[in-house]
Parts: sequence; structure tokens; C-alpha cells
Amino acid sequence: MHLLLAEDEQHAGEYLAKGLGESGFVVDWVKTGRDALHQAHSSEYDAIILDVGLPDIDGWEVIKRLRQTQQTPVLFLTARDRIEDRVRGLELGADDYLVKPYAFSELLARVRVLLRRGKQQETDILTLSDLEAHLLRRRVERAGQRVDLTAKEYALLLLFLRRRGEVLSRTLIAEQVWDMNFDSDTNVVDVAVRRLRAKIDEPFSRPLIHTVRGFGYVMEQRD
Ligand code: CA
Repeated sequence: MHLLLAEDEQHAGEYLAKGLGESGFVVDWVKTGRDALHQAHSSEYDAIILDVGLPDIDGWEVIKRLRQTQQTPVLFLTARDRIEDRVRGLELGADDYLVKPYAFSELLARVRVLLRRGKQQETDILTLSDLEAHLLRRRVERAGQRVDLTAKEYALLLLFLRRRGEVLSRTLIAEQVWDMNFDSDTNVVDVAVRRLRAKIDEPFSRPLIHTVRGFGYVMEQRD
């Protein structure tokens, strides 16, 4: 089980990463909201533990942006027990919360509940036509053939698959996959899409990624 931990406090972060590691989880620990978003978009996590008080982008904004593309369960940690904070987090799409200070055993129990819940909602395989992305194995296949993708190509493919049928602008793709603003140079997106097409579309008879002239791209099955 792969967890993302976003916690800027050194001591708390070390303690959690160590405790979760000893409980059998693979933990990626980041200290800023920006890094949390970047990690969440470039790797597949089973759950995210998110401190609300982060430097740069705070936890609220992280949940909000995350929920635009993914439903990975989020447990948020708040410093104060205020009803408005809890409600805000849950409204933004968090799945549960804990108030600091908390007992590690309680955090562990809540993470396990989230993981069980998450499994029921989320499928391990995203498919479109004969294209399949196996999330747990990070394996992509088209027409039964394995396709090797770089981390960015994989992130781009997952974005397309999760929002299939939806026209995605170059700016949105740049923000979601690179977590950066490419207003001045969306050529980066075009280059990445071209590479992805060369791997998942060109060797096969029916293309799935389509250009929407002057705007962006859409992934869908067209007859
Ligand atoms: Ca903090």
C-alpha cells in the first residue's frame, strides 16, 4: 500500500513516516503543498495524509486541486478543532480528518478504514476501447500488448483516461501533469502528446487521442 504524507513539521513527519513504514506501508513524505500535488499527479497512491497548514499551497487548496482529477482517499490533519475547518475539509472532498495532537494508533486505524473504502469505489483498471491502464501494477496495454511509458507519459495518459470524452485545454494539461503554468509555452504539452500518441495510437488501427484545433485534446473512442 502506497501512501503520500504531506507534513511540513520535521518531527511529526519523521514520526509518521517511520510509524507507517513499520506498519507495512510504503510512504512518500513531502513538506509542501506544491510537492504534494506534484507527487499525487505523478504517482498512484492508495491514500493521502494531508496536513492543512503547509507552506506555499495550503492543504485546502491541495484537496481542491486534487479533486479535479482524482478520488484518492484523503485524511486531513488540522491543528485546531474547529467545526468550520472540519466542514470545509469534508466539503472540499476530504474523506476524514484528525485533530492534532492525535494518537498514532488512531491515525493508523483511520487510514485503514479509508483504504478499505477506497478499494470499493476505485477500480484498479482504467479502460477505453482496447487500451488498459492497470493502476496497481503501473502497466499499460493496448490490444493485449504491453506499452512502456515514461512517468510523464503515464501521468498524461491517466489524466486523459480519467477524463475521457472531455476536451482538455493545453493549459489544464500543463497544470495537471507538470503542476506548472505553461501559458507561454504549451509546446511542452504538444511534444508530450505526440510521444504518447506514437506509443499508444500510431501502432494501432484506431486512434484514441484527438486534437481539438486551437484548444487542446480529447481522448475518446470514435467510430
Ligand atoms: Ca503544518
